Amino acid sequence: MNPLFNIFLRGFLFAQNNPQIIYTLFLVVMIPSAFFFTSEQFLRIARENQDLFERNRIGILQDVFVLFAKEHVDDASYLSTHIQSIVEQNETVTRLQVMRKNTSSEFIIVASKDDVDVGTPFVPDPLSSALFSNATGRPGESFAAKFFTDGVRYWRSVRAITDASSAMPVAYVLTDVSMAEADAVARKNIRSAYLVLALIIFLIIVLLARQARIIDYATLYQKLKEVDHMKDDFVSMAAHELRSPLSIIRGYTEMLADGEKLSPGGQTNLKHIDDAAVHLNHLIGDILDVAKLQEGRMSFRFESRDVSKDIAEVVESFMRVASDKGLKLSYENISLPLISIDPDRFHQVMINLVGNAIKYTPSGEVRVITSQEKESVVVRVSDTGMGISAEDQQKLFQKFYRVKSEETSTITGTGLGLWITSQMVKTMHGDIAVESIKGKGTDFILRFPVIKESPTA
Ligand code: ADP
Repeated sequence: MNPLFNIFLRGFLFAQNNPQIIYTLFLVVMIPSAFFFTSEQFLRIARENQDLFERNRIGILQDVFVLFAKEHVDDASYLSTHIQSIVEQNETVTRLQVMRKNTSSEFIIVASKDDVDVGTPFVPDPLSSALFSNATGRPGESFAAKFFTDGVRYWRSVRAITDASSAMPVAYVLTDVSMAEADAVARKNIRSAYLVLALIIFLIIVLLARQARIIDYATLYQKLKEVDHMKDDFVSMAAHELRSPLSIIRGYTEMLADGEKLSPGGQTNLKHIDDAAVHLNHLIGDILDVAKLQEGRMSFRFESRDVSKDIAEVVESFMRVASDKGLKLSYENISLPLISIDPDRFHQVMINLVGNAIKYTPSGEVRVITSQEKESVVVRVSDTGMGISAEDQQKLFQKFYRVKSEETSTITGTGLGLWITSQMVKTMHGDIAVESIKGKGTDFILRFPVIKESPTA
């Protein structure tokens, strides 16, 4: 296999088994990056807006100045006075000068905020040259460009002053505006934005440090799952292995009971051994069923069937046990519509329910009643036994759950029968419910969907 693909596959499998790592990475990388990205976006937009705003401001200032300067283009002292008052009110304006073209590459300053500049030449650098030539080409507009001096950002703007009659440029206004103050404010804001960002990242890291404990738990959970799996494997293997010696014990007790003349005391002891072996056998059977159901290894062979006869068989098999206990066991065998079930599993379900009804009914009767309701076959196993409280009914179908009371204390069981029963019923697309009144009796109700007959041709 391609080694790169191999690495990728291993990485993918690792991530799949440890989703918490992805979550952590997401928090560490994605959230700060998202913050950083959005802050950058906001800053960029803010900077662009500020530039636009400054450009417009200089443009307006020049437009207004040109409006009255037009009339006094030859009156240098008038212009200088006004320039001084404009500059006084706009601290960011570092240069505001009116100049005339002297030679092709030189201008003469005719008015300025500082009188000493008046009459001195101005030789434009390439940036200013471009502004002058633009202003000459389109005399009605201001042209601006950014430049830096000693680390300070400036906007320089040039606009032509035209002759009233010829509309030709006779002079130019050159304005420099310092962005030092605006940039200082922006820098301060950016610094606080980054400070907030650093704080958020710090908080995320603190949260992640706590998260690390959750990651430990997740790993522990994974390990526990593996141990649980191993335990299930072990239990099911052990249960399997116990079956053979148990069959041998039961075989010999049967032989002893049949063949030898035992004293009444010996008979009783042998009965005790056999009862214990039967109980152990049930327990092993239940444990194996639980393991199979949990791992989805229990096979179901579905058949369309009228289950009335199957129920009759189960009821029949319990007649002796019921009468020994002095209970009346009844079932009215009426034929039923077809349902899709595995006959062996259905048999097991009925054995569990009728067996429990007899087991938990000290006196009275157990009835199995069948009916058809709407599109379902309903099987009701009803007893007049000890009943189950509403609280216990909630937990009845949980694994290993047994009702703890004085009445049940002498009755042996595993608490697995109803869990196995409900799992089997569910797998056979049925439903199980319980209705019970403590001290009065219990009904377990099974519902299976009737198979819809396919329309005959
Ligand atoms: P167990 O092996 O204990 O019988 P089950 O899973 O079959 O296990 O039943 C769980 C518990 O539900 C029993 O311990 C019993 O207390 C109660 N139970 C089951 N069926 C009945 C019933 N027909 N009447 C009263 N209690 C019942």
